[in-house]
Amino acid sequence: MKIVLENLTKIFPARGKKGGQDVVAVDHFNFTIPDGKLVGLLGPSGCGKSTTLYLICGLQNPTEGKIYFGEDDVTNLPTENRGVGLVFQNYALYPHMTALQNILFPLQNLKGKDRLTKEEMNERAMKAARLVQIDRLMERKPAEMSGGQQQRVAIARALVKMPKVLLLDEPLSNLDARLRLQTREEIRRIQKETGITTVFVTHDQEEAMSISDLIVVMKAGVVNQIGKPQEVYDDPANQFVAQFLGTPQINMFSGRIGDGGLYIGSEKVMDINCDCGDTEVLVGVRPEGFEVDPEGSLTCTLRNIEVMGRDISIVSKNDACQSELVRTIVNSDIDYGSISGQVRFRLKAHKVYIFRPENGERIRFTER
Ligand code: ADP
Ligand code: MG
Repeated sequence: MKIVLENLTKIFPARGKKGGQDVVAVDHFNFTIPDGKLVGLLGPSGCGKSTTLYLICGLQNPTEGKIYFGEDDVTNLPTENRGVGLVFQNYALYPHMTALQNILFPLQNLKGKDRLTKEEMNERAMKAARLVQIDRLMERKPAEMSGGQQQRVAIARALVKMPKVLLLDEPLSNLDARLRLQTREEIRRIQKETGITTVFVTHDQEEAMSISDLIVVMKAGVVNQIGKPQEVYDDPANQFVAQFLGTPQINMFSGRIGDGGLYIGSEKVMDINCDCGDTEVLVGVRPEGFEVDPEGSLTCTLRNIEVMGRDISIVSKNDACQSELVRTIVNSDIDYGSISGQVRFRLKAHKVYIFRPENGERIRFTER
């Protein structure tokens, strides 16, 4: 089922104190989450991800705007009538209940025509448990399970009512690195198998990129970009999105456009066409956008070389770089033993992005 967000806005009024400011947690969010897709809601802490999720499920009411599930306006529908499954960061299982009892719990409160017999409930619970591959641990209490297992129980509990929409709020944050990886693949598998329209909230760009059909990048309540993960990475709308996606982070240099060229510091790194006129700019270069080339036009001072198997990371310094170090990733085929002192790079045009320093807006250009 598709979910339509129309001008969705949530303002938390300033509390008490004079001069306190209202918080616009979600600011005119417009988007249709396509049926059966997994959408990653991504952004730094405090940007309004959880609030968006709470609005979708009805735990909070919007200040303005509407929410539709399919064609139905659910803006004023209570949470329990929306058919959503919720999973939070802290698994919030009942500690005195077994895994099975935890999963059964939402079914035991069903009323009227939705009431199930004991057998039906057990069958549904076991089905959900099998889906998240936790069916052999059904007699354990939360304290007897690992974080990953507890989170699976929480997911089974969200799935057992066969929700039309699954909402996950940083569900992997409390897991260690390996489990995080495993569980995120698991969530993707379950989402694909069930075809439930899913919104997955995270501040971890790699997590969002790896499992989402579409990502939504938010900053201070405002949606900055929506697209397929690779498209957003390759074609960021602005400086914020470019810097938020990618590890290592994009390298940011101060530079300028002048005489038909793009300059980083005093070095002309590329001949370009662009209709913005001569101006100061910020130049972003992805780590994979550098090629070691003795004829290259960007000169950096080598700091160290880290060999990572297939790739090597060349860490260097450049005065125009906005961070302490320039981090590049190049193929380990090159004769890196011979690099020392100064290292010269040629830039790959499709990995270079130009922004306006005053507001981070993207300036489009073509290489000449
Ligand atoms: P995220 O989940 O992206 O970290 P949140 O949606 O939790 O961000 O919060 C967005 C903004 O709204 C933050 O500035 C936060 O302090 C504020 N906020 C969230 N919930 C409340 C609330 N109940 N009352 C007042 N302000 C809130
Ligand atoms: Mg949050």
